[in-house]
Amino acid sequence: MPRALRGMPASGGIVEGPVHLLRWEVPDVRHRIIPDEAVAGEKAHFREAVQKAKDRLLQVRARAEKHAGPEEAAIFDVQISILEDAALLEQVEELIAQNLGAEKAFDLVLLEWRQQFARHAQSMLRERVGDLIDVHIRVLSVLLGLPDHDPVDVPKGSNAILVTHDLTPSLTVQLDREAIIGIATDAGTRTSHVAILARSLGLPAIVGLRDATSKLTGNEHLILDGTSGVLLIDPTPEQSAAYRERRLREAEDAAELQLIAGAESVTLDGHWITLRANVDLPEEAVQAASSGAEGVGLMRTEFLVVGRATMPDEEEQYRAYSHVVDAFKGQPVIIRTFDVGGDKLPVGGYPTDANPFLGWRAIRMCLDEPELFKTQLRALLRAAKHGDVRIMLPLIVSLDEVRQARALLDEAAAELDARGVDYRHDLPLGVMVETPAAAIAVDTLVNDVAFFSIGTNDLVQYTLAVDRGSANLASRFTPLHPAVLRLIHRIVEVGSAHRLEVCVCGEMASQPLMAFALIGLGVRSMSVAGRAVPLVKRIIRGVSVEVATEAAFAALNARTAVEAETELRRRLTAAFGDAAFLRDGLPDYSNTNTFEVLGGPQ
Ligand code: PEP
Ligand code: MG
Repeated sequence: MPRALRGMPASGGIVEGPVHLLRWEVPDVRHRIIPDEAVAGEKAHFREAVQKAKDRLLQVRARAEKHAGPEEAAIFDVQISILEDAALLEQVEELIAQNLGAEKAFDLVLLEWRQQFARHAQSMLRERVGDLIDVHIRVLSVLLGLPDHDPVDVPKGSNAILVTHDLTPSLTVQLDREAIIGIATDAGTRTSHVAILARSLGLPAIVGLRDATSKLTGNEHLILDGTSGVLLIDPTPEQSAAYRERRLREAEDAAELQLIAGAESVTLDGHWITLRANVDLPEEAVQAASSGAEGVGLMRTEFLVVGRATMPDEEEQYRAYSHVVDAFKGQPVIIRTFDVGGDKLPVGGYPTDANPFLGWRAIRMCLDEPELFKTQLRALLRAAKHGDVRIMLPLIVSLDEVRQARALLDEAAAELDARGVDYRHDLPLGVMVETPAAAIAVDTLVNDVAFFSIGTNDLVQYTLAVDRGSANLASRFTPLHPAVLRLIHRIVEVGSAHRLEVCVCGEMASQPLMAFALIGLGVRSMSVAGRAVPLVKRIIRGVSVEVATEAAFAALNARTAVEAETELRRRLTAAFGDAAFLRDGLPDYSNTNTFEVLGGPQ
């Protein structure tokens, strides 16, 4: 009987292929006592397992180097050195000598080490916890004879669908895009970093499946529908045929949308809306430039850090930023300084804060690590020689942060002067408004910034106190909540009164109904994933500001998100009819999870 799992649509498109199940969790270990005469053999068995795990890591490292480059491959050096640590090996052998089975001995020592590292005063050592976890899993898997699930093992051309609990940085760098055609994860939501990355890579993805890894055995054949968030398990031939047909229809729709890529981004009643692209990886720049976007409204720079063991130097950053600026030939490119932390972590993470989204992240980290921040600022100042670069600061809560960042920007410029390096001086410095603090007190920022960009992913998370990465809370992540709409309206009013550009660069702008609401709230600049540019342009060109304003005010006066949605939908449907594309991005979050599929796709 075919089955299906329902999760959240994270990246559109339909793919079909065998499952590649990746279970990357510390396995349960039994307490096993061994007799004295077995101790020597058990120690030898342990040493062998460590050697095997090391050989495997060297193999994985070599392949990561080939696919992702030397910097990314360096992630694995730390893990190899842990396996060579004499103190660690000795502690395990001492426990074996006290008649404990090798797997339990190793498990206990690793748990102890992980705790010690997590509490360490030095951040460098705290960051090693992620590596210890990887080593913990790898060696135990060998000792317990569990299957080896490294994603690098998927042969090229196997068109497999990766199903895993969560995509960690060390897993991400191993992904061979010639072997993996789609991603499905138990964890995550539409706005979590995995989802954003999958959309950038154009890989269909579903997140928030909750228990897909425990429901599958690894032998299944799957259809992944990233547009509706359904994962079909062992489909019937009729279902496969129906999905193939739907894939063709989606491709036709995409081709039709592409036709309006070059059209003007102007409403029926003649209002111009600036439509820019979000760029998460430099490779996307060329595609984004041809999507009909007028520049980049948000270039995320975390790709330079996430999944890496070392921070990028000025030259590497300069090359990456210039590449994107060159692709947009003089159009504005807004580059956001490092927004590291939360769910965008370097290898090892920063396991210090119990609540990472409220912790040491983004501008906080940059201001506390001025050398790291100034390296980025120098690279940005230099890249600005190539075009219209603007700098954007993430997670601002107060004016002090903006002023401190500006002082560091001046220092970075002075350092370039001292080196005699050429750069541009007059870069506009803007901020993301993505905390309730910045939104409510947005008037305190107006004289010190060049523009505002509303990050709705975080603004919704912090306003509604709903973790953007939690699958369990996804139905409560409602951008149409009255509190969110009122904050956006306030930011637009204050910004416009001071003639500052107010852009929306969060996911909200990519969804037709929400884009309609934003236009009505007075937003005249949006930045969306490159692939969503034509869709949003279609909305812009099919509505009038007059109707959108009426709809948005009805939504603003609504008492619930559902009421607001009804007000907006009624008017948008009047403009477009009941077109399927209007439903995109507003999935059914009721999350019935596992259900029997009776027919094919609707
Ligand atoms: C946001 O928070 O809306 C945003 C655009 O930034 P990020 O998703 O990178 O946090
Ligand atoms: Mg954000």
